[in-house]
Amino acid sequence: MSERIVIIGAGQAGAQAVASLRADGFTGDLVMIGDEPYAPYQRPPLSKTYLMGTLDRERLFLKPDAFYAEAKCEMMLNTAAQTIDRAKKVVALKDGITVPYDKLLIATGSRVREIKCPGADLPGVFYLRSIADVDKLRPAFETAKNVAIVGGGYIGLEVGAVARKRGLNVTVYEALDRVMQRAVSKPISDFYDKTHRDAGVNILLNTGVEAFEGTGKLQSIRAGAKSYPADIAVVGIGILPNDTLAKEAGLTVGDGIHVDPHCQTSDPNIWAAGDCTRHHGRDGNHIRLECVQNAIDQAKFAALAMMGRPAPYREVPWFWSDQYDLKLQIAGLAWPADSLVVRGDPASRKFAVFHLRDRAVAAVEAVNAAPEYIVGRKLIAEGTKIPPEKLADTAIPMKNITQ
Ligand SMILES: Cc1cc2nc3c(=O)[nH]c(=O)nc-3n(C[C@H](O)[C@H](O)[C@H](O)COP(=O)(O)OP(=O)(O)OC[C@H]3O[C@@H](n4cnc5c(N)ncnc54)[C@H](O)[C@@H]3O)c2cc1C
Repeated sequence: MSERIVIIGAGQAGAQAVASLRADGFTGDLVMIGDEPYAPYQRPPLSKTYLMGTLDRERLFLKPDAFYAEAKCEMMLNTAAQTIDRAKKVVALKDGITVPYDKLLIATGSRVREIKCPGADLPGVFYLRSIADVDKLRPAFETAKNVAIVGGGYIGLEVGAVARKRGLNVTVYEALDRVMQRAVSKPISDFYDKTHRDAGVNILLNTGVEAFEGTGKLQSIRAGAKSYPADIAVVGIGILPNDTLAKEAGLTVGDGIHVDPHCQTSDPNIWAAGDCTRHHGRDGNHIRLECVQNAIDQAKFAALAMMGRPAPYREVPWFWSDQYDLKLQIAGLAWPADSLVVRGDPASRKFAVFHLRDRAVAAVEAVNAAPEYIVGRKLIAEGTKIPPEKLADTAIPMKNITQ
């Protein structure tokens, strides 16, 4: 009898799992369950070109519809998996529909962290995670004058850059003392802070939003005991892993579904991949990654393991962010690091920050600096030790840096 693999979550990891399972030779039944009305699509453009209006919706989709038909993957879209019965090996959907599995992949991604303060449910307060979110936000951009960005992380700053390009007044409210603090080093934060201010963005650091104010719709933001005009607010204060389904099924969960190096959960018939997971990274830290690379790679490794060919997931994480004319590319995990080496002059808008741990390159953050990023990724993977003064010397091309 042929085996049946069910994938919960029609996103980045889910789409990759379908491709990898078929490429790896899986010939059994394949079913994908997704709660959005769409086939899997890429989210990164949502806060960039799709919000700007320069990328059509069709270009968001990861694969054409024909791909799923050719892969003989049954697509059950617009319907959420509600429970997993591990004893019976069945996923329950609404209306009493059940989907049996032999092996299950949970790829349910993450959801936005909602802000809890007075007025948070006023019309005009937006979040950004899905096509549906942008389709609501874009028309509001047409009529708004003052945009509040709540949270100076990647997504907030990307939205801020788009809003400035569209000529809107932008104020960023950041509770911490520098932008993107959770994700990048201080030199990178400082550079992006200056870039946004130079572009006309008002950045308020150490400033948490206390309330959204307005009658019937958002009109102002109260922060630091002052009121600032705002027609719309976009809240980007982090995400939470969608791990409740797994938790309720009795899997080991804690800020993400715990998986082993083969993306297997605490149930030998269930794997998980992408934003919803927590795993031991290359350096042994127990981490939860929120990026395309992790979703793709974990799906590949989960597919191999489901096919009975497990290989340990030890890829170097990477990430990017587009703001204005700047491409920020990050590889590796920056913390803990012993020292930072800045290569190039931030004023040239082309530079990189290397993070060293025991003199080996642990991470690189590159701004408009593709060679630093590409070679940096290789150095991280190989654990190469390089004298800091050599890394900082821009007279030595990156391709010769280890010579
Ligand atoms: C605006 C934005 C910009 C981003 N920019 C970047 C970037 O520049 N670079 C980068 O590397 N990463 C970026 N990311 C992050 C990246 O998109 C995610 O890390 C990636 O999508 C994770 O893939 P995933 O498959 O784990 O989850 P997702 O792609 O989110 O897919 C999970 C799917 O599962 C569905 N689902 C959840 N629960 C259920 C259920 N019970 N039943 C059925 N379906 C369910 C969800 O609705 C969703 O459709 C960005 C994310 C956003 C939102």
